[in-house]
Amino acid sequence: MVRSNESLQEEYRRVTPRSRAQWERAKKSMPGGIIKGAYASNPYPHYVAKADGCHIWDLDGRKYVDFGNHHTTTLVGHNHSEVVQAIKDEADRGFGLGAPTTLEAEIAEEIADRFASIEQVRFTNSGTEASLHATRMVRAISGKPKVAKFEGAYHGTHDALEISVNTPIDESGPAESPTPVASQDGQSRSAEDDVVILPYSDRESAELILREHKDEVAGVFYDAKPGMWDISKDFTRFVRDITREMGILMVMDEVVSLRTGYGGAQTAAGVEPDISIFGKAMGGGLPVGVIGGKAEVMELLDHTQGAGHILQSGSFSGNNFTLAAGLATLRALTPEVYAHLGSLSARLHAGLERAFTDAGVPHQVLSEGAAANFFITDRPATSYRTVAMNHDAAMYERIALGLFLKGYSLRGGIGFTVSAPMENGHIDGVVEALEQVLAEKD
Ligand code: PMP
Repeated sequence: MVRSNESLQEEYRRVTPRSRAQWERAKKSMPGGIIKGAYASNPYPHYVAKADGCHIWDLDGRKYVDFGNHHTTTLVGHNHSEVVQAIKDEADRGFGLGAPTTLEAEIAEEIADRFASIEQVRFTNSGTEASLHATRMVRAISGKPKVAKFEGAYHGTHDALEISVNTPIDESGPAESPTPVASQDGQSRSAEDDVVILPYSDRESAELILREHKDEVAGVFYDAKPGMWDISKDFTRFVRDITREMGILMVMDEVVSLRTGYGGAQTAAGVEPDISIFGKAMGGGLPVGVIGGKAEVMELLDHTQGAGHILQSGSFSGNNFTLAAGLATLRALTPEVYAHLGSLSARLHAGLERAFTDAGVPHQVLSEGAAANFFITDRPATSYRTVAMNHDAAMYERIALGLFLKGYSLRGGIGFTVSAPMENGHIDGVVEALEQVLAEKD
């Protein structure tokens, strides 16, 4: 049941010689031969030559159906004609303008129209930067020193929140009261002291911890679907209710959750966070981060009002390429497109479920909107610990590599992200490939 890693990697080496050669070259000029950590992969990275629609091609000319979709970004597909045209128009108009343009209000209004919790937005270059500014905002608004986040959730790579993201269980402290542990060497020691860690899906413990720290916690950062874990919408509503009751700001991290639906995870759960942060799809494939909220909260970023306000800026924040591509993408992501994405992921969900059941492999399949993922375990994937302790991550990797070798790429994503150009045939194809991967032996 599923070939060994050695056998899969041996085939990978055989069919991707140009990626290997590129890696050998790149290792001399970049640590690990890669420009960023996310591209690390075993036995070496997969170098891409081009992308179009729902496909990518590698240096060896092999074609893949792209379920990674640039870390869940390209929901409308690669090279969507309107997104490409928008970028070309900006190139013709001129860039590096160093001044505001009319594009900004257009996309700001488009975002405000989609989210009941948002009246105003600011742009950054990444989800990380949006998260970093939101951290300052909740501290500045409340005057309280700490932030809270949920165990296992990732809110970008900055000191304040890259805590207890993937800590080994034996260093994580008690499940009902997790210990804050910095994720990377070099993070400020005080970062750990300034964070309170909450467990997902455990209302009693989350409430107890938050109540104990309510006078020092400025805001709770919350991702409603980290890695597509099975976090209920009721839990999301519960987090909104207790934060409101305790006078703590709620920051919803929607960086990946535009793939869950037209109005993100907040609309799906029927909650209105105080601040939302976005990234990924909102830039149409170009670097982006967005901070949004009601005017009374966002007004904090109007530094022209002087003391008590924050300067939020950045040379390339809200550059015209990103705004144009983002606007074209949002306009292309209509409710009808979401209906199509939802029907593809429902078909995928059913297919994955069937393939694992028929092969006798323990599994949890989860899906919503354009996203689907699976866990190799018979226990529900309701929190960081349930996944870390029960899910067979090594088997998951072997399955993903097996699918890759059959022309279906999950790379750079969190499980599967379907995209608008896909049709039922692509879904049936990957399910059939999974059936083969699960049946194959060395
Ligand atoms: N929050 C979540 C939930 C994310 O998935 C990510 C990126 N994977 C970030 C924040 C950070 O965004 P960026 O990579 O654009 O800095």
